[in-house]
Amino acid sequence: MSQATPPVTPIPPNPAEVQASAQPLVQPLLANAAIMEAVSRQSYPAATLYVVATPIGNVCDISLRALHLLALADAVACEDTRNTAQLMTRYGLHKPLIAAHQHNEREVAGKIIARLQAGERIALVSDAGTPGVSDPGAKIVDAVRLAGLQVSPLPGASAAISALSASGLIHDQFYFVGFLPAKAGQRDTLLQSLASVAATMIFYEAPHRIIDATQAMLKAFGPDRPVVFARELTKLFEEIHRCTLGEAHAWLSADSHREKGEYVVLIQGAPSTAGEDQLEARRILSILLKECPVKQAASLAAQITGQKKNALYELALELKGEHE
Ligand code: SAM
Repeated sequence: MSQATPPVTPIPPNPAEVQASAQPLVQPLLANAAIMEAVSRQSYPAATLYVVATPIGNVCDISLRALHLLALADAVACEDTRNTAQLMTRYGLHKPLIAAHQHNEREVAGKIIARLQAGERIALVSDAGTPGVSDPGAKIVDAVRLAGLQVSPLPGASAAISALSASGLIHDQFYFVGFLPAKAGQRDTLLQSLASVAATMIFYEAPHRIIDATQAMLKAFGPDRPVVFARELTKLFEEIHRCTLGEAHAWLSADSHREKGEYVVLIQGAPSTAGEDQLEARRILSILLKECPVKQAASLAAQITGQKKNALYELALELKGEHE
């Protein structure tokens, strides 16, 4: 996690709001023995790998079940032992830590499997958010499952879903892309291939690449496409900004702090033109079929509309059949 960076003109906190939010609203809940008993009464079978989501910024964004499981686990496999030790200490937890990062996932999976086979409960965490989502973890989970052992999720924060939920982009489907390739050529090719995706697209991006990546998105998707920048979510200087790709550069360069911090970028999917394209193809083919044979009509329609000749040929045959 990178450090939160203050914007140029931070809004001074409203003393009345600080006062209100400083009330320990959940203390009665945590002190409620019935709730804590319900958490501990859940089943946490032994010989299981628990995939535990941790906060993406605000240290309080961790579930009661996740804390209970971390207290119960025999060991915690983590991306960076220093970061996890810090989080655990905040909650008064001290457990043996196993380093499980992107360079040793396969090897460490063998050690975790041996411990699970001996009946231990192992928690798997990453530095922030949900393990395996643009983070190490997936290879360990795969190996543990292949070994016939149980894996159970302890759900919680993920930057992608948090950003999507607050983006205001209306979506039936979303497409998680994650990080773009660092090389400009590969990045541009990938973006071109996404230009007609109808689902809302979710990208992770490093702050030092945010301007370049946004310019590349502008080239691939055009200036009118709505974009949402979700920056520093759950942290002190959280910002969620919606504009078009054509307006994005001006927003990003209006404040030098916007080249720092963590970003999720969401792009609204391509507007659907399939229905309109089909209607236009039918109209053009109907005219052409009055003057020329099917093959020639399909070929001319392909030149006029830019659509695929084979599909137009099939459509021309269908139309011809309707008229005979
Ligand atoms: N596993 C994590 C998850 O579930 O979201 C993602 C880890 S990935 C290595 C880190 C990237 O997630 C960052 O570069 C950024 O794009 C995004 N991210 C993480 N925390 C964020 C936050 N608080 N605000 C905005 N984006 C964040």
